[in-house]
Amino acid sequence: MVRFIEDFISLFYPKLCAACGAHLLQQEKYVCTQCLYNLPRTNYHYTNGNPVEQAFWGRTEIIAATAYYFFEKENRFAKIIHELKYRGKKEIGIEMGKIFGAELKENSRFDEVDLIIPVPLHWKKQKKRGYNQSEFIASGIAESMGKPIDVNILYRAVETETQTRKSRYERWENVENIFSLRSADKIDGKHILLVDDVITTGATLESCATTLLKGNNTKVSIATLAMA
Ligand SMILES: [Zn+2]
Repeated sequence: MVRFIEDFISLFYPKLCAACGAHLLQQEKYVCTQCLYNLPRTNYHYTNGNPVEQAFWGRTEIIAATAYYFFEKENRFAKIIHELKYRGKKEIGIEMGKIFGAELKENSRFDEVDLIIPVPLHWKKQKKRGYNQSEFIASGIAESMGKPIDVNILYRAVETETQTRKSRYERWENVENIFSLRSADKIDGKHILLVDDVITTGATLESCATTLLKGNNTKVSIATLAMA
């Protein structure tokens, strides 16, 4: 009966793929099977010294890093991030995180992670937007990996201007020392997986990682949903 009602409702309010806009089938969630299949995946988590890891060489110590797929402005997959970031489609973040997390769980380079931490937004920005998109991706990853998530230990202490119009150096300067830890002892000896939506220059992630590495014997790895 429920299924019948769902089908009936979907006649009038069809669920559409966040990437291509096609009608979703009953068993599909947020992104259609074909789009998931065609996602421009990096497969970086299978490679030591991949380009995401290289971005941090000489900047901060990262155990392993990866991004799930290539982000290109204007392509249909960019819409996944757009819907998640600006249109409040948190379910997309959770679902994509679950798919990504299932791969990380089976990956020997990431399976030793103890704790998942999303890159925090400044509380003012989060209040304005209503949510932190990286938190949803992180919770999907945490669910698939069977690891805990924490959204309180790492926080953004300084509100920064938008990064979009800044040069690489300005971006780096803009985010240096803006993150802080509360109850830092909770990350002692932990291997943390730091999660963000998109990696661009890596400046924000670098700043987060440097802050987390202030913990005793803390290790940091990085996973982002996309790479620009
Ligand atoms: Zn699609």
